[in-house]
Amino acid sequence: MIAKGWIVYGQRLRLVAVLAAAVLAGLTAVPTRSAAQQDFDDIEIKILPVQGGIYMLVGAGGNITVQIGDDGVLIVDTMFAELSDKIVAAIRELSDEPIRFVVNTHAHPDHIGSNASIALKGSNIAGGNVVGAIADAGAQAKIVAHENVLIHMSMQDPPIAFEAWPTDAYYTAKKEIFFNGEAIQIFHQPEAHTNGDSIAFFRRSDVISTGDVFVTTGYPYIDVQNGGSFQGVLDALNNIIDLAVPADRQEGGTMVIPGHGRLCDEADVVEYRDMLTIIRDRIQHMVDEGFSLRQVHSARPTLDYDGRFGSDSGFWTTEQFIETVYEELNASE
Ligand SMILES: [Zn+2]
Repeated sequence: MIAKGWIVYGQRLRLVAVLAAAVLAGLTAVPTRSAAQQDFDDIEIKILPVQGGIYMLVGAGGNITVQIGDDGVLIVDTMFAELSDKIVAAIRELSDEPIRFVVNTHAHPDHIGSNASIALKGSNIAGGNVVGAIADAGAQAKIVAHENVLIHMSMQDPPIAFEAWPTDAYYTAKKEIFFNGEAIQIFHQPEAHTNGDSIAFFRRSDVISTGDVFVTTGYPYIDVQNGGSFQGVLDALNNIIDLAVPADRQEGGTMVIPGHGRLCDEADVVEYRDMLTIIRDRIQHMVDEGFSLRQVHSARPTLDYDGRFGSDSGFWTTEQFIETVYEELNASE
């Protein structure tokens, strides 16, 4: 929870996020359906000041984090392709400086959709002999992501435009950028929501942009096909909690921008982590007792949280969530 004014705003954001989740659900349920068939005309991009040089853009798809300053603009994630003009217009309300960096938290279409069009509108910082030697050295914003995002994006059928691919893929545990007078640490979160998740920590502004390892709109979606795991999500949440420092009486301090949903602080992440830990322990107990999946479903291990996070329809139901956790815990027996 955060201060009272935020809660009202948060509820509005949540509505937007529910709409966004519905759009995503449609896309994910039928993978061949193109985003063009969704109606994005009515989607407005809302700008929420977070703190320091950081803003949050909310529309359809994943939240966008914007960092502005004298060096230019850095953004984390790019929503859907259809929204690129609106996203750029929103960024231009905040800064006239060039867009230098696009960071992707993972490869899902609602987080990378506008990569190509936004990166091509930007330019990277190239100096000295590089500019003379390579004609297009500064021609596009850098796209930074974990290597598995590049691998995923380069192997899609139908293919994703080359201009949308990460130009700066990292394969270590951490990637560092110093931009706008601020240290930005990008940490890989192995086998979490996918196998290519990054969280971005803006050290001076004291803001963490989490991607989909943390959402406020439902149970975490574990994309097992793309290398995700429940334990990886729990580990990622604990990493976020390690980085975040709460202010007075646990309100505020480090602010946390989730992949979907409203602006949060550390206490929100702790609540979410605790919920998932409790659910994990309940299902683990049932696995230890030899329960079948059917018996686990009957025991309803998420019942007390379903009103807030559960779903009977869409691409990620409570039933699928429970099954995914059960299968993982059962396999590690
Ligand atoms: Zn995602």
